[in-house]
Amino acid sequence: MPPAETNWQAAADAIAAAQAVLVVSHSSPDGDAIGSLLGMAGALCGLGKKVIPAVDEGVPDELAFLPNSQAILPRLAHGEFDLMIALDASDIERIGQVGKYGLAHSRRVINLDHHPTNTRFGDIQLVVPEAAAAAEVVFDLLQYAGWQLSRDVAFALLAGLVTDTQGFRIPATSSRSLEIAQALMKAGAPLSEIMARTLNRRSFAEVTLWQKALQSVQLRDGLICAAITQNDLKLANLRKMTDGGLVNYLVDVDAAKVAVVFKELPTAVEISFRARPGYDVGRLALALGGGGHVLAAGCTVAGSLQQAQKQVLPLARKIIDEGDSA
Ligand code: AMP
Ligand code: MN
Ligand code: MN
Repeated sequence: MPPAETNWQAAADAIAAAQAVLVVSHSSPDGDAIGSLLGMAGALCGLGKKVIPAVDEGVPDELAFLPNSQAILPRLAHGEFDLMIALDASDIERIGQVGKYGLAHSRRVINLDHHPTNTRFGDIQLVVPEAAAAAEVVFDLLQYAGWQLSRDVAFALLAGLVTDTQGFRIPATSSRSLEIAQALMKAGAPLSEIMARTLNRRSFAEVTLWQKALQSVQLRDGLICAAITQNDLKLANLRKMTDGGLVNYLVDVDAAKVAVVFKELPTAVEISFRARPGYDVGRLALALGGGGHVLAAGCTVAGSLQQAQKQVLPLARKIIDEGDSA
């Protein structure tokens, strides 16, 4: 259900009453985390607020083309805020160190998100599971409050919408998503440039990573999985763990129902899940301490790669066995 009218009003009132506003999104930020954050921050600047945008690890290189992305702080050690706005983050762990600081140093917290697994933390919730991206929810708040939509804000929000919907391809894409995209384009957001600089690009390092990781791919009775090791990362000359979009590629294999990519960290394993319609990996990720959407979710589990595979693959198998009853 969309949030009650009172929540939109409470959020608009809290913003109107605030001077210093901290804006954060989830760590290891993706296009929607950065897009919704920059969109919100830009709108607040337009209202004359003192805005601090921050996200753990800062802006990834591939999103640095977004206007004003250089203003985002990668860490936070001082400041007191009237308000913190958390975007695209389903729980307080996801907002990382900057979020932890913000929770302790902000008088109020708005939780603006679109994950059905959102824990409803914070004082005011704008959690809209029907929205294809947090950027859609930011757009709706701007419209509700009657705030101006500058080109830079539209640019950032369209980047969030395009990346989270993989170019308007995933089932969560609604006619409303397209209406919003149209409004953002009318405000000056360059759709084809955003597509070209996010979805239609990859580094050669990522190609090298796939070369290694594809050797680990296995498909059995609808369950497709792969692993990326620390060694693969090193051989590809990458500093930060990523799958370079591999999990999205694997779930599109004809016979696949659920795709799982294991990403080995020094003492834990990050796991990305994708499902074809009819199967729910959001529930599984939540049970493993993570979260996400029905068709795209993730978590991090402690231990070795082998331990994670042993723990998680039978659970993914169960999702396939139990699923598609609808
Ligand atoms: P990814 O596989 O990293 O692209 O993530 C897919 C979806 O799962 C995104 O909506 C993420 O926000 C969500 N997600 C990934 N990892 C976690 C986590 N550790 N906790 C909560 N949600 C997650
Ligand atoms: Mn995200
Ligand atoms: Mn999102």
